[in-house]
Amino acid sequence: MKISNHMLVGLPEEKISYIASPNFSLEISPIYLIMHYTAGTTLSGAVSWFQNPDAQASAHIVIDRDGTIVQMVSFNRRAWHAGKSKWGSLESMNNYSIGIELVNAGKLRRNPAGQWVNWAKTVIPDDEVSVATHKAETGETGWHEYSNEQINMAIDVGVLLHNKYNFTDVLGHDDVSPGRKVDPGPLFPIDSFRSVILGRA
Ligand SMILES: [Zn+2]
Repeated sequence: MKISNHMLVGLPEEKISYIASPNFSLEISPIYLIMHYTAGTTLSGAVSWFQNPDAQASAHIVIDRDGTIVQMVSFNRRAWHAGKSKWGSLESMNNYSIGIELVNAGKLRRNPAGQWVNWAKTVIPDDEVSVATHKAETGETGWHEYSNEQINMAIDVGVLLHNKYNFTDVLGHDDVSPGRKVDPGPLFPIDSFRSVILGRA
């Protein structure tokens, strides 16, 4: 896997493909990496949403639970992943960042039958759920766990991207849009992830 002309390029066995999103705009020089979850359970669902002009949303890449990657926007173009956002003196973080979406159902609640479900009422098996408290919230609830394959792939891509773009920092969507967004949530190991990405260059 390498980056060529602001695109990920991999060997066939690396399961990297490109499916264009129409939801992008002007050229950027990214200096932040921002992590997200899709709030869904399938790669195809996330990709078709980002292909839809009505969504007004996109990400540079989406990583499935088995490590499969779909790139949707060139890394030097503005993808629409962070929305209203702020970090330090910067606003509209889409102007300064690469966005990675991880396929993950996100924040969960118990349905009347006692099953864990996300906002779309998709049932998540108990063995993929951990109870945790978000750093911006007080009560604990269920969250969909990330898979090791997915985290490891995100690390590999993040290191490649940092070597190319020399990030100032690695952030969660919940860092730049606090109160509005809770992804990637408490089960994403943002501190160790940041250390590995920024430290391994
Ligand atoms: Zn997000």
